Amino acid sequence: MEERIWHAHYPKEIPTSIEYDTKPLHHFLIKNAERYKGKKALHFMGKELSFVELYTQAKKLACYFQSLGLEKGDRVAIMLPNCPQAVIGYYAALMAGGTVVQTNPLYMERELEFQLNDSGATFIVCLDILLPRVSNIKGNTSLKHTIVTGIKDYLPFPKNLIYPYIQKKQYHMLVKVEQSEDTHVWGAIMEHSTTNYHPVEVDVKEDLALLQYTGGTTGNPKGVMLTHHNLVANVQMSKAWLYKTREGKETVLGVLPFFHVYGMTTVMNMSIMFGSTMVLLPKFDVEDVLKTIQKQRPTLFPGAPTIYIGILNHPDLKKYDLSSIEACISGSAPLPIEVQQQFEHVTGGRLVEGYGLTESSPVTHSNFVWTKRVNGSIGVPWPDTDSKIFREGTMEEAPIGEVGEIAVKGPQVMKGYWNNQEETDNVLKDDWLFTGDLGYMDEDGYFYIVDRKKDMIIAGGYNIYPREIEEVLYEHEGIQEAVVAGIPDPYRGETVKAYIVKKPGINLSEAELNSYCRENLAAYKVPKIYEFRDELPKTAIGKILRRSLVDEEKEKLQQT
Ligand code: AMP
Repeated sequence: MEERIWHAHYPKEIPTSIEYDTKPLHHFLIKNAERYKGKKALHFMGKELSFVELYTQAKKLACYFQSLGLEKGDRVAIMLPNCPQAVIGYYAALMAGGTVVQTNPLYMERELEFQLNDSGATFIVCLDILLPRVSNIKGNTSLKHTIVTGIKDYLPFPKNLIYPYIQKKQYHMLVKVEQSEDTHVWGAIMEHSTTNYHPVEVDVKEDLALLQYTGGTTGNPKGVMLTHHNLVANVQMSKAWLYKTREGKETVLGVLPFFHVYGMTTVMNMSIMFGSTMVLLPKFDVEDVLKTIQKQRPTLFPGAPTIYIGILNHPDLKKYDLSSIEACISGSAPLPIEVQQQFEHVTGGRLVEGYGLTESSPVTHSNFVWTKRVNGSIGVPWPDTDSKIFREGTMEEAPIGEVGEIAVKGPQVMKGYWNNQEETDNVLKDDWLFTGDLGYMDEDGYFYIVDRKKDMIIAGGYNIYPREIEEVLYEHEGIQEAVVAGIPDPYRGETVKAYIVKKPGINLSEAELNSYCRENLAAYKVPKIYEFRDELPKTAIGKILRRSLVDEEKEKLQQT
């Protein structure tokens, strides 16, 4: 690609442009089953599967899908936490010619029904404990076949599994799922299906591997159309960025959920494409993560700030050996500098901030892992990825240092939103993806996020960016987590409110916090209201749900 200023910082090991493989995503499972054979592909709570086992099981399910009539382009929903079936189901659907629709297993009926209808999914692979939810809405959707699986398909004694989706005591009350014309049992498929699926021709730049649902820049759920090429390209870029990683030799910690694009690309697809072992954790529990790191010794650990913060605040952190960790890219929310420094101190590895969004498969920028990185910056664009700051609402490029909307262009950028030309036209203009994030670029080509377009607070005529206030709060030694939101105010339009989780055992009053903020922030940015909470609402990926806090406030106002 054309030379841009950030390329001057690229270490010689990272190319500015890459030659992309032209094979579909599932080809890499086939290739690595031949290459790595009995090597461990995944570890799940004591159970291990080799590359050959993974491939064989994916072939059986692909063959079964085709025997049920799955045709090229049919949508296959997957509603699973991280477990072997999530990987097998995903690759089997692709091998059979399908398009995967990732579904959050925490979705309630209304959300699930919307997603199934919008995508037109005809197949779903779901966890047995979620079957009632699927069955209740099935009649209102185009679903034809449900493949049901349980954790017990891989673990004989799911003793220590307490899922967020069900209470432990309920597990024993589950009725056995019976095979029927439209309900199919995983165990029977693995026992009886053959591996003779029919490979399907794939046009990697046109055919969709994935419909990934996101609120995008406007908040309305939309299916992001990602092609095989989009996904393969983003993984190849990751590999180029992490140039010290050794093919076939790494172990990747999979605590980010695979039903979100971030975990899917940086853990699942990355491991399959480069012969790494992935260690799956079905939910984020700090103690489990610490024990797993000590035992399985992962070298790579992609995560989000809340995950690293949770680890750093565990009371017995010092008891665990985390020295296997070599490199972590943190994405999905701002990484407080304090957290980065402490985490590197504890592990001896590198933790750098990156950035991306569902619409770009997801990664577009990050700091260099082993060379120049800039605190507080999301880093520079990845190979073949261009990025500009546009003055808001225009196609006019903003000068260096001026805040505008971040736009990106590159092989990882989506084809568009599924059945939604209007929203597509709003964000894709001249091949530039408008991210909805506000930021600027410095004279070295490093990018900074100031905020999300819709999170900017306008209070008394001032534009206030929550991130700046949050950075100050995170620097306070008594604060574990903080989020700042603009809540409705009849006089000022909006008012700055801070929600705080204190570190355990810390005494901190509102007055103390207020004087600390006054010392560190311009008066108009200082929160007018503070609320202490035990925890903050978060998405499955660990992003703090600022919106839901604002909605709470709006509801409160309506009631008064
Ligand atoms: P998603 O589509 O769920 O991956 O969310 C993408 C959004 O997450 C971006 O548009 C940003 O608003 C936010 N995001 C991702 N990485 C960062 C980061 N490093 N700092 C701040 N916000 C981020």
